Amino acid sequence: AKAAGQNCYAYFTASLQETAQNRLQLANALRSAMELEQLHVVFQPIVRLSDGHLHKAEALLRWVHPVRGLVSPAEFIPLAEEIGLISDMGNWVFEEAMRKVSQWMPLHHGQLQISVNMSPLQFHSGRDTASVWLDYLHRLDLSGSNVIIEITEGLLLHADPTISIQLLGFRDMGIQVAIDDFGTGYSSLAYLQKFDIDYLKIDQAFVRALDTDSGNQALVEAIVVMAHKLGLKVIAEGVETAAQRDFLRNIGCDYAQGYLFAKPLQPDDFEAMLRGKADS
Ligand code: C2E
Ligand code: CA
Ligand code: CA
Ligand code: CA
Repeated sequence: AKAAGQNCYAYFTASLQETAQNRLQLANALRSAMELEQLHVVFQPIVRLSDGHLHKAEALLRWVHPVRGLVSPAEFIPLAEEIGLISDMGNWVFEEAMRKVSQWMPLHHGQLQISVNMSPLQFHSGRDTASVWLDYLHRLDLSGSNVIIEITEGLLLHADPTISIQLLGFRDMGIQVAIDDFGTGYSSLAYLQKFDIDYLKIDQAFVRALDTDSGNQALVEAIVVMAHKLGLKVIAEGVETAAQRDFLRNIGCDYAQGYLFAKPLQPDDFEAMLRGKADS
């Protein structure tokens, strides 16, 4: 038994070392990914459920590694946070997305709203991100009304005054705020009153369970009712079936995002979709 234990130990050590080495390599590659133009932004449409109208999209980051191919953001975002790259990367996503929005201006007449994901670390970077972003928007002839920031519940949990101040800074420039992955994090809802929030994004786990679980249907409906009473709009994530869409529309959910409508699209494909809407 002892020998087996030792083998086990040796095995785990080897694989741990391998993992650590892998991560180190990946971290180094990620550091140069921006310069080497391996990062790009894709756009996933968000539609209004009442009429199917498209006027929002979530910007999602993609990394095409020369050897490994497409690396999932679920893997490289935490790495970027760990090695201190996330603020630069987040600013880059914002700027890249806004450059596209300004190019598409004739197609949406300033109406297009782009939702960008913000890591909690971007609020702890000590930088005044809101004013940097505002300058950038002005240079492109855009405004804060073109932007939504997506944050997670954890950021608001401790009622940190520096977070409130920064959120106010964004709101002062007309940027709206969405709570991403709503329902997966914390049970406290008090923060919804304490902070000015515009949207709840219902996590896709709840949307997926709509087909099978009536308890879950009641939960999603209750979230929509509560959100509306508090003056928030609701975006359902990960909508894949017509049945999910119909249920969500019937309970008054405002917006939806998911493969049923479109996958995250390359800028050219998103532009084609905008053109289609504009022409019809
Ligand atoms: P998220 O913010 O919850 O983004 C939604 C994820 O769900 C995206 O995965 C999207 O491609 C996927 N999705 C959309 N519709 C469907 C659907 O109908 N079915 C299924 N199964 N999935 C759907 P993605 O692009 O792989 O991103 C994963 C996560 O990585 C994001 O989750 C977000 O937390 C993070 N992320 C992506 N881009 C950025 C970024 O620019 N900055 C930061 N900080 N995080 C990002
Ligand atoms: Ca998101
Ligand atoms: Ca989400
Ligand atoms: Ca998520």
